Amino acid sequence: MADPKQESVLLVWDYDWSLINTNSDTHVVEALHPELMDRFSSPMGWTQLMDLQVKELFARGVSRARLEATVAEVPVFPGSLDAIRAAHEAKASQVILSDANTVFIEAFLQKEGLRHCFSDVISNPASFDEEGRLHIKPFHDGEAHDCPLCPSNLCKGSVLQHLLGATSPARVAYVGDGGGDFCPACELRPQDLLLCRAPPSDPLKRFGLLRRLEGPAQATRHGGIAQVVAKVVKWHSGDDLLAAIRGFLR
Ligand SMILES: [Mg+2]
Ligand SMILES: [Zn+2]
Repeated sequence: MADPKQESVLLVWDYDWSLINTNSDTHVVEALHPELMDRFSSPMGWTQLMDLQVKELFARGVSRARLEATVAEVPVFPGSLDAIRAAHEAKASQVILSDANTVFIEAFLQKEGLRHCFSDVISNPASFDEEGRLHIKPFHDGEAHDCPLCPSNLCKGSVLQHLLGATSPARVAYVGDGGGDFCPACELRPQDLLLCRAPPSDPLKRFGLLRRLEGPAQATRHGGIAQVVAKVVKWHSGDDLLAAIRGFLR
């Protein structure tokens, strides 16, 4: 059996509905000013829309401290936190690859005391200005990507491709739930593992990654047909993730 001490193992975590058990963007708006929830139905790109939502929260008096405290307290399966600790103890590298934003994720990791378990948090960059208002920018800012599978602000597949090229891990496990996780899933290799959230898995109702795995063929940015060659394991809870990740690390 493979020994993680002898081979480099990488664990990639999507954040919303994967590492945590909610969408951090809608969670913070609902918790602080639920009357702004209607705005999420705008056809605007999600990251730009979220930047306007946090601008609106600031205009309504939400301080930096209150915003950070709220995003730090998102619901999470205890088993997921145990899985992160187990992977860290096994000396696996871990990164978060998320379409949320860096400030929300960092606040959560600090609160849980888990920041040291991750070598990188790759997400839409966010920062507070001197007045205390948060600004969220697209990950691919000003540079268009040509991926037909991904939103314009972030192609997780291109990020994962660069990560694999830069770190050459022997094996990768990827934890995901949403449609945006399909492109990076297609970058995984036969020896890798895709952990795909599947129903029943309350309170999540939409399983975009599973839908794309089982849906009609789609083209990738490489010009071929999108295909996942990694082993796929479905998960429904944090305990499922813990068991699957323990098995992967063994
Ligand atoms: Mg997600
Ligand atoms: Zn992509």
